[in-house]
Amino acid sequence: MRFKISKKERRRRKLAKRQLNAFYAYIKKIAPVLKKIASATLILIDKTRKVAESVAILRAAVDEQYTENAEHCVVCGDVIPEGRQVCYICEKRGGGGLK
Ligand SMILES: [Zn+2]
Repeated sequence: MRFKISKKERRRRKLAKRQLNAFYAYIKKIAPVLKKIASATLILIDKTRKVAESVAILRAAVDEQYTENAEHCVVCGDVIPEGRQVCYICEKRGGGGLK
């Protein structure tokens, strides 16, 4: 006698698959955040930047996970702290001509 998968079991498997896909999507999503953390770390090492600015970058990167209305750099599109137009990386490269 063939074992028949119940509706409940099918639903459970579907949910598990969806959770796994969501997990993969999350990993993909946080990849840029990890990149930003690396950038912020470099800025920390670079003595010309204040610690507060690096923390602001990290906060903006983390906030991006929870909000769709994050501010974005006009040059590269990275998430930036509120009240800015250009990210610290682009600013450093002379992007936007802002100081
Ligand atoms: Zn930028």
